[in-house]
Amino acid sequence: MVVPEALWWGPGREVVMVVGRKTSFFAMIAVAAAVSLGFTHGHELCAGFLPENDMKIPVGQKGSGGLTQEQFNAVIDSVEEIYKPIVASKGGKLVVERKWEDPTVNAYANRGWGGTWNVAMFGGLARHSAVTPDGFALVVCHEIGHHLGGFPKKFGWASNEGQADYFATLKCLRRVYGSGALSKGMPQEDCDDAHGGGGASQDCQRNAQAGLSIAKLFQALRNLPEPPEFTTPDESVAERMDNNHPQPQCRLDTYYQGGLCTKGLGEDVDDSNPLAGTCNRVEGYSVGVRPLCWYKPPQQAKVAAKVPLREKLPDAEALSRRISALRASLDAS
Ligand SMILES: [Zn+2]
Repeated sequence: MVVPEALWWGPGREVVMVVGRKTSFFAMIAVAAAVSLGFTHGHELCAGFLPENDMKIPVGQKGSGGLTQEQFNAVIDSVEEIYKPIVASKGGKLVVERKWEDPTVNAYANRGWGGTWNVAMFGGLARHSAVTPDGFALVVCHEIGHHLGGFPKKFGWASNEGQADYFATLKCLRRVYGSGALSKGMPQEDCDDAHGGGGASQDCQRNAQAGLSIAKLFQALRNLPEPPEFTTPDESVAERMDNNHPQPQCRLDTYYQGGLCTKGLGEDVDDSNPLAGTCNRVEGYSVGVRPLCWYKPPQQAKVAAKVPLREKLPDAEALSRRISALRASLDAS
């Protein structure tokens, strides 16, 4: 029995992967649990577990803020209108499930039989007080990004979490803004610097605010004392490609950088070429690039040549010291 993967958007759920070549007791338990939770989609099955920070926002919860059902549908309409033909041109059929009644604060993407590319959006997420229409559109775009976001990928078909985030502001939201369906955002100096003002800068500013809306949702779900900010980027460097959900600050950085990238919408991303359609260090970009807190650039001759020698010296020195110490201990024995 093989249980297909689903990619949950939020920090509150993780993907349950039970990939087996034969039926196992654990797989049966996972299936039973998933079915009991109602996460069945035809033959497809996806299951999440409910960690302690999981949140439920039912329809009609007083003071919850967030989107109305009309806004929920309008945002999904605007993304669906743009991406249905794009998915069709790649041989898929985009199906966005509108789970307005469902209190779950989350969303997911998976692939079904017959070329069905699924996205599921829950009303609980749209009703959270931190979520704006642009922020909600960002989450829809993140799920679209699992299907269309290109390199780096996981599970074969899906762009990883960081890339789905990057694609959301790099490509998807800019197309949605182009449809004129949503409200304008606030100004940002960095966007003017990157894009030289005009409509591209406006899109960049809206992307930034959409990212901030969702970053505040992360803060609420994780009870973080400090909100992620544009001015406090995550300086950590991933030792290997992080395919899972990055930390909230790292995700905000990704949304922000995606919006700052000046590569044109006409330049599409690619499933195997990390440079296609992206701002990247290999081509000399320093703004609009995927943050190193999740993105580990693939080993390439050009990349290796750009690494300053001094960054390698401490390792070489440490190794030399260890060899000397080892020799000394051998001599002593
Ligand atoms: Zn995701």
